[in-house]
Amino acid sequence: MIHFVGAGPGAPDLISLRGARMIREADVIIYAGSLVNPALLEERKPECVVYDSAYMTLEDVIGVMKVADAAGKDVVRLHTGDQSLYGAIREQMDELIRLGIDYDDTPGISSFCGAAAALQTEYTLPSVSQSVIITRMEGRTPVPEREKLRSMAIHGCSMVVFLSMGLIRDVQKELLAGAYTEETPAAIVYKATWPEEKVFYCTVGTLAETAEKEAIRKTALIVVGDFLQKGYERSKLYDPGFTTEFRDAAR
Ligand code: SAH
Repeated sequence: MIHFVGAGPGAPDLISLRGARMIREADVIIYAGSLVNPALLEERKPECVVYDSAYMTLEDVIGVMKVADAAGKDVVRLHTGDQSLYGAIREQMDELIRLGIDYDDTPGISSFCGAAAALQTEYTLPSVSQSVIITRMEGRTPVPEREKLRSMAIHGCSMVVFLSMGLIRDVQKELLAGAYTEETPAAIVYKATWPEEKVFYCTVGTLAETAEKEAIRKTALIVVGDFLQKGYERSKLYDPGFTTEFRDAAR
């Protein structure tokens, strides 16, 4: 059996209870060594065999899974954050289906949630933004035409840009071609929830300059939007004058 597990954003205690149990019980772990905190592997069985997928192709990964599964072993495929975002899990799952190998899927805390915690804020503030766009700059991996960063930036809502630190100058240009201005608040969150976590507040106009000055080239998210500002309205949900399914408005 193969278990896809989300490792969370970095801190080893930000994995789910189920994911942690699967790591403790695994005979084989294939983990994304470039981003998953190795501290997560400490609870593994002494005989557990560990592979770093940074050095492997899809074929290598499936090969290891196939041999282990045939021997009746439990394999944990440990992905960073939540595997449903930029995790390349569909191609693994489809191969496993083709080979008739069973798998299950245990979600994790994505780094964009870790970044919100690092920023101590909320992406969805009433009257400021009620949507979050999760996206990336086009690089070697193509992005569909209708999702080019400048098109996504038309909305001006809260936005989290993954996998794009190396293209920060282009990111800045594309954001400015949309609804964001030079003054729109922004932040670069480096290694959210790791001991090395760093937060750099800036604006869209100073994004590239900030990244270059602080020498942040990878393992960081670019977070943009007016939710980083001070002003917002109180929520309706916890407003004394607002009746909900569970609570009558104060009279
Ligand atoms: N599935 C992962 C994302 C994998 S793509 C998730 O849900 O978080 C890898 C990119 O995620 C990195 O280039 C970086 O942009 C971002 N990332 C992953 N972990 C991060 C962290 N702890 N802090 C900041 N960014 C992180």
